[in-house]
Amino acid sequence: MSAPEKPAPPVNYWTKPYWNAANEGKLIIQRCLDCQKHIFYPRICCPFCFSDRIEWVPASGKGRVYTYTVVRSNAPSAFIGDMPFVIAIVRLEEGVQMLTNIVGCDPDEVRCEMPVEVTFERLNENFVLPKFKPAGSE
Ligand SMILES: [Zn+2]
Repeated sequence: MSAPEKPAPPVNYWTKPYWNAANEGKLIIQRCLDCQKHIFYPRICCPFCFSDRIEWVPASGKGRVYTYTVVRSNAPSAFIGDMPFVIAIVRLEEGVQMLTNIVGCDPDEVRCEMPVEVTFERLNENFVLPKFKPAGSE
């Protein structure tokens, strides 16, 4: 029996630009035109000043591991084949935090404050997921 398909992210009009960019291997985030703060996850208005004047800007793709956990057992069935895998919160240089995976290294090598950079993994024919790997790694 093959593993069930991994769930795909929900897409709506305010997240569509993010997923379109990811499909092209680009990481973009929102920035408020009124208070200038960066925003992630995508929203329809600024969570700081409630302005609806929001633009999309390229993100550096560089950040540090804020916190993480290594999943070694009891993953949902679609993810069993990936174990062990790392679920992390990465804080980008822009200040926003992303829930993501750390890939491209042994899970035991991951540390808080480790420098990481974005990489892209195709989930299926419709989605590419931004993930993070140790900075400077292949
Ligand atoms: Zn704002």
